[in-house]
Amino acid sequence: MIPSVLPTYSRAPLSFVKGEGAWLIEADGTRYLDLGAGIAVNVLGHANPTLVRALTDQAQALWHTSNLYQIPQQQALADKLVEATFADTVFFTNSGTEACELAVKMARKYWYDKDQKDRVEIITFSGSFHGRSAAGIAAAGSEKMVKGFGPVLGGFVHVDWGDHEALTAAITDKTAAILIEPVQGEGGIRPLPDQCLKGLRDLCDEHGILLVLDEVQCGVGRTGKLFAHEWSGITPDIMMVAKGIGGGFPLGAVLATEDAASGMTAGTHGSTYGGNPLGCAVGCAVMDIVSDPAFLAEVNRKSGLLRQKLEGLVASHPDVFESVRGSGMMLGIKCKMPNTDVVAAGYKARVITVPAADNVIRLLPPLNLTDDDIAEAVTRLDAAAASLC
Ligand SMILES: *Cc1c(COP(=O)(O)O)cnc(C)c1O
Repeated sequence: MIPSVLPTYSRAPLSFVKGEGAWLIEADGTRYLDLGAGIAVNVLGHANPTLVRALTDQAQALWHTSNLYQIPQQQALADKLVEATFADTVFFTNSGTEACELAVKMARKYWYDKDQKDRVEIITFSGSFHGRSAAGIAAAGSEKMVKGFGPVLGGFVHVDWGDHEALTAAITDKTAAILIEPVQGEGGIRPLPDQCLKGLRDLCDEHGILLVLDEVQCGVGRTGKLFAHEWSGITPDIMMVAKGIGGGFPLGAVLATEDAASGMTAGTHGSTYGGNPLGCAVGCAVMDIVSDPAFLAEVNRKSGLLRQKLEGLVASHPDVFESVRGSGMMLGIKCKMPNTDVVAAGYKARVITVPAADNVIRLLPPLNLTDDDIAEAVTRLDAAAASLC
């Protein structure tokens, strides 16, 4: 008999009733150190008092009105994002894949309105992940994600990650945009070197096409800058955001320049819940904390500490681990043993990591975990690795 929850996930036998900072607690009191943070979502940890207050204050006042009316919390969050980034304008969604839908529509409408109606193609890369909507799976293009679901949304051109010649060859007079994650998440924590992101910007400028960045996983302070592309000094035309921006409340956004967004006039897009008062009240509280340079400096200090300790961990378990990679608090450890075995051994040692492609385990902890949490994380990962030999 089919389970009452549609079984599209193979779930670990863990169930939590409470969270405190970087810790998750089961009903019997067992505590787990959470280095997954709900897949890069809980950027300020679990039950963060500031976020709890922002949410409960708003919940007492007003939950939902709809985008038919002015929403002051949405306006405030849009202003904060515009102030802190390249963007001139923002549309709010409830998830990353909805942000992908709009990014794709926006890029195509841009050219449609410029009377270049054939410019619909969006170049994407192997190993990428843009969510599970029809546009998201078509954009990523992996056989595993699209198989069995009927006609795949057209207009995506897939290029091997890192194949510069193939990329250049893929650009034609039908190309609308290039879409890429500055650090691949699901693909196994693969950071795009700064030089390559600069090169992509140049390529887009040279051909007059749009650069769309998917910062759903790597954004919102995760790499130690507010957004990962800032390390390279370039700016995109359109950017997808989600995961961390709501700190655990479902919230996403598409940020864009005025020019890139020019096609999205009244009536061209919408969302019932997107940008609702609850989500945006929390989003404002997240932004106020995460965009503070002193907070980001701490993320950089702590991620340096974590990385250094992980290098030591890898060196002391050469049969289990191969290497550490990533950026800031978005770290991957490539494993020699099956990554799912390593994640399961972590559960036994009461430490949570997340598997990714390329036999990697991901560490995406709350950005505000403490130095003690970092020491404890490495102790527990060490115990997990030792249990595998
Ligand atoms: C998680 C993720 C998405 C999809 O976000 P959802 O909120 O699950 O729809 C898209 N892009 C990237 C890079 C992601 O990590």
